[in-house]
Amino acid sequence: MKTPHRVYTPPTGAIIVIWLLLSVGGALIWWNAALTAIHADFNRDVLGVYSQLSRKLDQNEAVLSALVAQSDNAQPGRQEMMRRFARRMVEHYPQLYTIEYFEKVTPGNRGRYHDLIRHRAGAGFFLRNNDVPERKQSLEPPARSVYLAVSVIEPDLPKAAMVYGYDVLHDPYFADDVKRAVSSGKMTASLPFELFEGGRVFLLMRALYLNDKVVAAESPAFQGIVAVVVHFDLMLRELHLERLPLDISLASRNGHTALLSTNDNAHGDWLSLGRLTWQKTLPSQSQPFELRVERELQIGDFQLLPLAALEALLALSCLLGWKIFLQRRALEEARYMADESLYLQRERAAVTLNAIYDGVVSLSIDESVELVNPMAQQLLERSELELVGRHYRSVLLLSNELADSLIEDPVSICLRTGALVELPEHTILTTAAGNARLVEGAVAPLFALNGELSGAVCAFRDLGPVRMRARQALEASEKRVKEHLEKLSHVARLHTMGEMASGIAHELNQPLSAITSYCQASLSLLQESEADPEILRALGAAVAQAGRAAEIIKRLRVFVSKRQSETRLIDLNQVIDNSLFLAEHDLREGGVEVKQKLSPRPVAVLADSIQMEQVILNLLGNAIDALRDEPVGRRSIEILSRLDGGRAVLEIRDSGRGISPQVRDVLFHPFFSTKSQGMGLGLSICQTIVEQYRGSISAENIAGSGAAFRIVLPAAG
Ligand code: ADP
Repeated sequence: MKTPHRVYTPPTGAIIVIWLLLSVGGALIWWNAALTAIHADFNRDVLGVYSQLSRKLDQNEAVLSALVAQSDNAQPGRQEMMRRFARRMVEHYPQLYTIEYFEKVTPGNRGRYHDLIRHRAGAGFFLRNNDVPERKQSLEPPARSVYLAVSVIEPDLPKAAMVYGYDVLHDPYFADDVKRAVSSGKMTASLPFELFEGGRVFLLMRALYLNDKVVAAESPAFQGIVAVVVHFDLMLRELHLERLPLDISLASRNGHTALLSTNDNAHGDWLSLGRLTWQKTLPSQSQPFELRVERELQIGDFQLLPLAALEALLALSCLLGWKIFLQRRALEEARYMADESLYLQRERAAVTLNAIYDGVVSLSIDESVELVNPMAQQLLERSELELVGRHYRSVLLLSNELADSLIEDPVSICLRTGALVELPEHTILTTAAGNARLVEGAVAPLFALNGELSGAVCAFRDLGPVRMRARQALEASEKRVKEHLEKLSHVARLHTMGEMASGIAHELNQPLSAITSYCQASLSLLQESEADPEILRALGAAVAQAGRAAEIIKRLRVFVSKRQSETRLIDLNQVIDNSLFLAEHDLREGGVEVKQKLSPRPVAVLADSIQMEQVILNLLGNAIDALRDEPVGRRSIEILSRLDGGRAVLEIRDSGRGISPQVRDVLFHPFFSTKSQGMGLGLSICQTIVEQYRGSISAENIAGSGAAFRIVLPAAG
């Protein structure tokens, strides 16, 4: 069963859609992975920042605790020890801008304080009232009962000296925090503030009391405040945040921003893809900062290379898929074409095998029958079922007509040598029913693709029918030869007769001349002796008839004489006249009436007059023959001649039965005759003669009458 050829349309659209889906899917996966990685990075960075900041804050507290321990019962004499310790701490912990000691100054020790700071910073330094608008250096009075002014500052840089005499207890910015520190006795952070010299800092303070007993600032047991000044920028620098794409802010109480990262993460960038935010309070109790870390997500944060690689991989996969698909399709096409071609070849082979008159038996290499065509089944007188699968020797029984058996079976020779072997002459095939057939044929080897012999094909033909056909053909041809020979001998006899007629005419001429002479002499004698007029008339008639006989003989001799044809200018009317003279006897005997309708002018043509007479006599003879069966009185012949333009036309019509349609086509063929004694050469000779003078001869039936033969010749002159 043939399956229709499937036509594939290239699914370009489908491939593009698949590619797009894969691309988008891949991009989403990449986006998700990239985002997860960025989140992980961010969380790691954030935790780093958080723990480092926490550690810094712990360090601040530790330093302050150590300072407090060092400054126990801080007395002016012991300040030097505190200073040394503070210097080491500041060197060791870079985030510590300075370490300060705010000493409680009362009217009792103010003088000493002034001496101290003037000693350190020079003249012009004294206690200042910070709570007045012009905090710039308003000097007492009114003197306060308690000041809390810097007496130790480490490192004691020139710019740091500006804070000597500065009363932190009454500064509106610090007062609350300082009082809280004094009243609580705990470490307390101040609000962040700007340094005169630039930079943002905060104070981490702790009050010192006599006997560690927390008291109010006014109480004599309150000694002062130790403070570390923590520099945000330095602390930030310590964290090495510049390499991280983070916005970091520390908010102190009341949301007061204390610290901002120095990163240049531009906010609201058009490339921004959103922000990651993280917020948590740092664990230090005394430094209650809220850490907020943000990260601007930008396209540059995403690794585009993996995406590009992924997309390229997907595009490549799609292309590869497409290529494989096309190759597969081409393969399928090729396979279909091969199947088709194979199918056609098989069909052709099967039809050929079924159609031919030769028996074909195909044998496998193991010498068993594989395939037989219908003719082989017929010749072997066995069905396909009885033949296929059997060993060839049990079905293909070959022997030789002349010998008892073949010297070597041609099939086995072919299978042994791999060469084509013809069945020897006189090979006999014995059928299943025991019939013997004379066969001819050959055994051809069958080779596999690798060139190995894979079997043989035996083709054979029954010579019986061939022989019969050959015999029939031989018989028919022998018959034709015999007829031909008969006709030839007839022609030869006629020829002999012609020769004889010529001789007879010659022999008759002498006696006829003698008869004429004698008759004429007798006539002259009788005329002189006044003889009976009846005798005179009879003798006169005898002389006339003798003369006529002589004329006939003369013309006959000319007609049958052997002569070279002589082409010259002749008048067809004259030729007709001569011919009628010669045919007069036959016409009279046949009771035929002749009508002449000749051209009044000579019909001149270039031809041989005797040959043209022969033509006309032939046509007249045929016409007389055709009129024999017609009743007497209805036998007439009409002879016409005319000049038609440059042509000379001659027609001979008879009133016979005309020419039958079967005869018409073969009329001019040599040896065609419908007459028992006819030779069938007359018209053929006429045609040859007329065509010799570039003319033509044709025959037709005249309506209501007989046949008409027309000769057309080129008119001369
Ligand atoms: P033949 O006269 O020996 O038969 P022809 O070649 O002269 O040979 O003529 C061939 C045949 O043509 C004749 O046998 C006859 O059947 C046919 N035929 C010739 N002339 C006429 C005619 N005038 N009328 C009818 N048939 C004719």
